[in-house]
Amino acid sequence: MDAVQLLDWGDHDHFDAWATRPCCLCGKPTPMRSHADEAVHKVCAEEWNAAHPDEARRYTPPAPGRPQRDVGTWRFHNDGPTTPHLRRVAVAPDSPRRPAPTEAGDQDGLFAA
Ligand SMILES: [Zn+2]
Repeated sequence: MDAVQLLDWGDHDHFDAWATRPCCLCGKPTPMRSHADEAVHKVCAEEWNAAHPDEARRYTPPAPGRPQRDVGTWRFHNDGPTTPHLRRVAVAPDSPRRPAPTEAGDQDGLFAA
């Protein structure tokens, strides 16, 4: 197996100081977040990338009469100048003040496979 490529996740948005959530890959609690705001250990993301070099992780939700399909490669990736900001829900879900839609809003309804 090739060496695991380390991710550059230097942006502070990858660390959620307020909550840990189960890692989407190993299930253990983590404060780390991917660019898609998934809870994931950085090392788990790096190992997943190395183990799945050509695999996409995002699919449309299954629906009657519409097959589930890959909507493009969505791998764990490095920070970069074109990386959209993390989508962060900063208010309680029942708050009347909902977060404004972001550029990542078109990702609603997608989920990690
Ligand atoms: Zn993990």
